[in-house]
This record gives sequence, C-alpha cells and structure tokens, in this order.
Amino acid sequence: MHAPLYAINGASRSDDVSAPSVSARSKIIVLEVLSDDQMAALREHHDVVVLDASLAKTSPDTFNTTLMHELSNAHALIVSKVKMTEALLDAAPQLRVIASVSVGYDNYPLEALNARGILLCNTPDVLTETTADVGFLLIMASARRAVELSNLVRDGKWTQSIDEQYFGTDVHGKTLGMIGMGRIGAAIARRGALGFGMQVQYAMASPKPALEAELGARRVELDDLLASSDFVCVTVPLSSETRHLIGKRELEKMSPHAILINIARGPVIDEAALIDCLQRGGIRGAGLDVFEQEPLSSSSPLTRLPQVVALPHIGSATHDTRRAMAQRALDNTLLALEGEPPLSAVNEPHWTRKG
Ligand code: NAP
Repeated sequence: MHAPLYAINGASRSDDVSAPSVSARSKIIVLEVLSDDQMAALREHHDVVVLDASLAKTSPDTFNTTLMHELSNAHALIVSKVKMTEALLDAAPQLRVIASVSVGYDNYPLEALNARGILLCNTPDVLTETTADVGFLLIMASARRAVELSNLVRDGKWTQSIDEQYFGTDVHGKTLGMIGMGRIGAAIARRGALGFGMQVQYAMASPKPALEAELGARRVELDDLLASSDFVCVTVPLSSETRHLIGKRELEKMSPHAILINIARGPVIDEAALIDCLQRGGIRGAGLDVFEQEPLSSSSPLTRLPQVVALPHIGSATHDTRRAMAQRALDNTLLALEGEPPLSAVNEPHWTRKG
C-alpha cells in the first residue's frame, strides 16, 4: 500500500484517472493541510483536488507530473511549501489566484504572475505575534545558552554548580538592533522595549515615527546598527535586494559579544560567512529559525556549534496560527474566485484574466 497521491472532493485515488469536470464551479488545488471544516467550505462551491506536497521532496518527478496535469484546468491553488516555477505557471492557463499560506512570497515569480494576470495572496498579520514570540525565544535561548545547557542536563553532565564557563549574557537593558521594522520586526521590538527595557534601534526600513514615540526606537544606518547592537535581529523579506544582506563585511562590523538572530529567510544571511564568523569567535552566537537550505543538513556545522540555537523554521508553527493562516488563504481564494478583493494580496489587483 502506498499513500494516495491525491484526493478529489474527498475520494482518495492513487492512479491516474481523468481530471474532474469543471462547470460553473472552479477547480482548486490544495497543497496544504486544511481542517475538515475548511475543506468542506471549499467543496461547497468548488471542485477540490488535494495533493500531498511532501511528495515534492520524496518523489519529485511523479509529483511534478501530477501537479502539471492538475494545473491544466485549475483556477486556484492553495500552497506554501512548493516553489512555483514559470514552467508550472505555463501548465496552468486558467489559473486566476494563488493563495500562499505564508506572509513571505519569495517562492513565487512575481513578474511572471503579473504578466499572466494571476493574483498572489498571502497571510500577513495573523502570524505576526506568533512569529515574534519565536524571534524573542531565539534571543533568550541564545543569550542564556538554554539549548546547550539543557543538553548538558539531558546528557547527565550536570555534575556540579554551573560556573562562568557556562554563564550567559543579559537580555534586559541591552541594545536590540532590528534589521527591518515591519509587522514582525515591530512586534519583536515591542517585546524588547516594553518587556525587557531594551534600547531599540532599526535599519533597512522607512521611518516609523509612531514606533519611535511608543518604544523610544531610533532609526540608524545599517553599519551603525551592526556595530552598536547586542542583538541583531533580521526581519526583512527575502528578495534580490536582501539576499546575503548580512555577509562577511557586515558580520565583521558586529561586536564579538553580539548575537545574530534570523527569523526571516535563510538566504538573507550568507550562511558560509556566518559559520566562518562563529567558528572564529567573531560574534557570541546565533539564533536561527531559517536556513539557506531547508531542512538544514545534519552535516552543517550549524548543527554542532554550541553557540547556535537552530530551530526547524517554526516561526508560525502553532495550532492556532496555522489554522488562522489556512483560513486566511481559504478566504482569499473564495473572495478572488467570486471576483471580490481578497483580504491580503501581494500583487496589484489587475488579476481578472483578460479574455
Ligand atoms: P513586513 O511587514 O513587510 O516587513 C518587512 C520589513 O522589511 C519592513 O520594515 C520593510 O521596510 C523592510 N524591508 C527592507 N528591505 C526590504 C525590501 N527589499 N523589500 C521589502 N521590505 C523590505 O513583513 P513581515 O510581516 O514583518 O514579515 C517579514 C518576513 O518574515 C517575511 O517576508 C518572511 O520572509 C519572514 N517570516 C518568517 C517566518 C518564520 O516562520 N520564520 C514567519 C513569518 C514571516 P518598510 O518598513 O520601509 O516597508
């Protein structure tokens, strides 16, 4: 018995059978796990094909062939983990909307979507606080060496009082440097300023006078932020402008006592340069939720460096928030298929396919 490749309106199937007929109902491909009530809401008005996105990694050829086949007459796609290529879009002549179950949209070729008049929706806001929690978790865990010292206990190596070789560094009262000060950046900055009495500075963002008034935050140049922050926290989206924004030069600007946090996207940091910097003791440590290649290979030095706290991309991974994200994607899809503006879109709403 092998796992079914996909299901149409609830009936699993593992063999190639003819595509469902699309009448007035639109065809929606779902590559995400939605709850039963969410699936029922989709199926009430539309034909739904569910594909198992995990097969994109385990059986990429079969998955790709199946996805292309299903895309040939699909109108909407609910997705987050599958990278959308122009080849996939070429296979989808009737596609009107992609609802990504994420706020970041670096998995999508925006220009190609615009050229085809395909609307791209995302799920901002509903994940902001949950992701900021993980940002702050990384700050705390890295500063107090929580994972390293927990492992000491787990391994039965806690045999005497912890002495200064295992001491951490304070978080409260320190300087928090935010790279990017959007929704998630501001939510982390609030935690730091209001919860821990941190001085907040920020770079790589337009001026935020309201936040400056609320948090006493200062807008500074990136180099100044790197040189004068105890914690540098990356929250900018991944784009051609931000890829490897933090590399060897930027890491060398940081204090050897500083800690680098990445809650945004792995490729914003040049990982090889970071590993080299950590191995040389160029900075105190790093707290990372995201990596250049995910899942992170077990052979990566990042898995072995004690001063690194590495999480498996869990920023938004709570039951409540993942459900809210799925609901937002579902709402965006249904609104768009009805010709209504979605709740959150990435590209311009010139999305009604011409002709
Ligand atoms: P956002 O509100 O759009 O904030 C982005 C911030 O980055 C803004 O301050 C923006 O400046 C700044 N920025 C600097 N360079 C930019 C550029 N080239 N393009 C766009 N913005 C730029 O986004 P958010 O909701 O805070 O999310 C930020 C990122 O976090 C997402 O894109 C995603 O990659 C990542 N994320 C990760 C997880 C996780 O699980 N680890 C979960 C959710 C999101 P302005 O203020 O001037 O606009």
